[in-house]
Amino acid sequence: MSSPVKYVYAFGAALTEGEAAMKNLLGGKGANLAEMCRLGITVPPGFTISTEACTEFTDKGQAHVFELIRDEVAQGVARVEGEMGKRFGDPADPLLLSVRSGARASMPGMMDTILNLGLNDEAVVGLARKANNERFAWDSYRRFIQMYGDVVMGLKPVSKEEHDPFEVIIDMVKEKRGVKLDTDLGTDDLKELVQRFKSLIRARIGRDFPTDPWEQLWGAVFAVFESWNNDRAKVYRELNDIPQSWGTAVNVQAMVFGNLGDSSATGVAFSRDAGTGEDLFNGEFLINAQGEDVVAGVRTPQQISRLGSQRWAQLALVNEEERRSQFPSLEELMPDIYQQLLKAETLLENHFRDMQDMEFTIQEGKLWMLQTRNGKRTGAAMVRIAVEMLKQGMIDEKTALLRVAPERLNELLHPVFDTHAVKAAKVIARGLPASPGAATGQIVFFADEAEEWVKQGKVVILVRLETSPEDLRGMSVAQGILTARGGMTSHAAVVARGMGKCCISGAGAVHVDYKARTMTIGDTVYQEGDWLSLDGSTGEVFEGRIPTVEAGLSGDFGALMALTDKYKRLHVRANADTPDDAKVARNFGATGIGLCRTEHMFFAGDRILAVREMILANDEAGRRKALAKLLPMQRGDFEGMFREMNGLPVTIRLLDPPLHEFIPHDEAGQRTMANEMGVPLGKIKMRVEELHEFNPMMGHRGCRLGISYPEITEMQARAVIEAALNMKARGFEVKAEIMVPLVGTVREFDAQAKVIRQTAAAVFAERGEQLEYLLGTMIETPRAAVIADSIARQAEFFSFGTNDLTQMTLGFSRDDAGKFLPDYLRKGIYEHDPFRSIDQKGVGALVEMAVRKGQQARPGIETGVCGEHGGDPASVEFFHGAGLDYVSCSPFRVPIARLAAAQAAIRGGAPAPRAPRGGGAPTPLN
Ligand code: ADP
Ligand code: MG
Ligand code: MG
Repeated sequence: MSSPVKYVYAFGAALTEGEAAMKNLLGGKGANLAEMCRLGITVPPGFTISTEACTEFTDKGQAHVFELIRDEVAQGVARVEGEMGKRFGDPADPLLLSVRSGARASMPGMMDTILNLGLNDEAVVGLARKANNERFAWDSYRRFIQMYGDVVMGLKPVSKEEHDPFEVIIDMVKEKRGVKLDTDLGTDDLKELVQRFKSLIRARIGRDFPTDPWEQLWGAVFAVFESWNNDRAKVYRELNDIPQSWGTAVNVQAMVFGNLGDSSATGVAFSRDAGTGEDLFNGEFLINAQGEDVVAGVRTPQQISRLGSQRWAQLALVNEEERRSQFPSLEELMPDIYQQLLKAETLLENHFRDMQDMEFTIQEGKLWMLQTRNGKRTGAAMVRIAVEMLKQGMIDEKTALLRVAPERLNELLHPVFDTHAVKAAKVIARGLPASPGAATGQIVFFADEAEEWVKQGKVVILVRLETSPEDLRGMSVAQGILTARGGMTSHAAVVARGMGKCCISGAGAVHVDYKARTMTIGDTVYQEGDWLSLDGSTGEVFEGRIPTVEAGLSGDFGALMALTDKYKRLHVRANADTPDDAKVARNFGATGIGLCRTEHMFFAGDRILAVREMILANDEAGRRKALAKLLPMQRGDFEGMFREMNGLPVTIRLLDPPLHEFIPHDEAGQRTMANEMGVPLGKIKMRVEELHEFNPMMGHRGCRLGISYPEITEMQARAVIEAALNMKARGFEVKAEIMVPLVGTVREFDAQAKVIRQTAAAVFAERGEQLEYLLGTMIETPRAAVIADSIARQAEFFSFGTNDLTQMTLGFSRDDAGKFLPDYLRKGIYEHDPFRSIDQKGVGALVEMAVRKGQQARPGIETGVCGEHGGDPASVEFFHGAGLDYVSCSPFRVPIARLAAAQAAIRGGAPAPRAPRGGGAPTPLN
């Protein structure tokens, strides 16, 4: 009779077969129910049907599983009957059960629970008589029919617009009675609901509500298994990387009743504050209620602790008298129960050594615990709880570091909305959460006008169809950026993340009319100057002005960050183009600049004029004349970078983008340019025509520019070396690294290296002094990775430009991938967006190979990453394993990368640390 595999595990006061460590088999809920029983906490008895049974169900179907587990389930029910002293299906005094799903990883709201199972027209009478409470019995019955009708029989709204059909009936009956709350409905009303619910089911489903308790039980168990494979659950698992093969467990448990009158209640509790992390026991409960009533928002729940209750009253504008009479805390109302709950809470938190989120029910003055799990929490709470538990000696340093999800630090790094104000605000559109933070300001549609408005002291939100490099300055002064088009790696998104500026991209519902200077969403037209607010962490666009509060490196945050340095091996640098960015990066703990994009400086002030003059020049002499104007400006920028990063390396990349990016493409812009520069419009048009490329990303850019126009390289090298000497003379410690972009062959690098070394030598000769600098290259074409050993013989460092390397290895244009990548992700062809998280098997393998070859050719060669991936936790972990020296990311991601690097070292075991600067030989002075 007994099957070789055990599928059912008991829990309760008499016998408990599972434990917390058995989450894979019993699901999170089942494993922890068992663990609570082992700890001596009062839990209604029950049993867990394992996830393996779910897998059998998915593979071989219902009939097969029924045979497999029938006997074990029957035994389980018998044991519960024994412990509760009631029989399942006994009409005179029925044992009622709950059937609860519970997967390995918590899947909030994915699969529903059924309460009060076992009731029918006779049992409800028995229950009423036994409890001496008719209203309670009928309330339980109508809830059961409602839940079972929905979850098992599938009676759900048929369209998005339709309301829940059961709730419609409840509202109708309430209206008829002239009452507002469920609790105001009398026994007769509840009887009426039961009748109406049953008729509704018969009419819509074409079947009667099942009266046999065993039929009800099996229906519920299989519905839970079934729900593992519903679309909603599948989508959730895809989004959260949960394998389909895991399956869900089913918990069958004796019911306890919070709806038995005024000495009964149901509630939720947290051992610490999930919002702030404060070490304060808190939670909510409802008298005479069941299940999810507390979170459903039908009645105002009461607070568990007196302190919490007083704080709540202040926010809800309830005076102390009213609070004590109408919304007393559990601590005041049922002091004994409160003490028991407090004891359980402390026991559980100490046992699991993490913040607990608990569910409980009070039945006529007796406390029953129904669930405990490690609680979800905000980024701020993660940090505070980890640091405080470390101080309290509950966890060690490594555990504290692993407790914080790096990505969630975002929430601490950007301004946030005032929590109360945002609740009242109206969401008018949604887009991609491209760059986190909260922003509020007046709508402006043009970058130059953004600058003007800000000069006048206004705060603005830049709204564009999309952005381009010309918009940089406008973007940098705006509070936030909203674009109608573009994905997570659109220009707007990448630049905004770099700036640490709030950005929502691809908000399709937003229609921008540049001419009319309006933004239309649905039927509402917003004018230039109207107030708008953006939440870059959620992608929500709000109407009007919502106040924000600044975030910063608070005490606990600082402590956690300091701890990362103790464990991480990777250095974390920042991609920063201006001294201001560099300062921010340094404050966040960057130990160098891994990428300074010189072209971003070309847009500041009136330098764009000199840049354009160079582009329009007919010959080298003309270009040199224009470059001479740029030289002092670039030198000044570099001096600023070296000043901010005193003592730390600064990697400066030579000009990279195609030249057409510096010239306006619209006629009006070209006309202005013609006027400003005193050249005929025709000449500009012709040059634009000449610069046109079919595929600019693979066009005339990177070191190809320096090959065609060595005088550009020469000017930039001179600016770096002169700046370095100037700052050294002023007492700063300068570590300059000059980086040649987009190299594919050794000869390309050699040609550029020759210009740079000769220029440096010339400057040294002019000044009569010298200085060490590193000369290296980006590895961002697949060919460069393949011949990395040959390149390493010439280049003193490698910096992997993983954006371009990804683009070229995959053959995906970063600007066009948005069209098909979503399909690829949905269909599982790619698991992650390879522009966000490194494609480890392809692009990552090239990185590993190039590092290995580079090390062979030049032992100790410095290697780093400066693409977007440098700030992605999973990628950081990969780069740690690949043996890179550093990752470089946008300043606002530096803390995230530091934490990810520490976690990678803790999880992977840290290889021996290497010197921060690598062991590259000093540049020969030829
Ligand atoms: P979820 O996974 O959505 O949290 P649960 O299985 O925890 O669903 O059930 C939801 C609620 O139903 C619980 O919080 C609890 O209030 C109630 N509940 C579940 N089982 C029982 C039970 N045996 N007795 C009383 N209430 C129960
Ligand atoms: Mg629950
Ligand atoms: Mg590149």
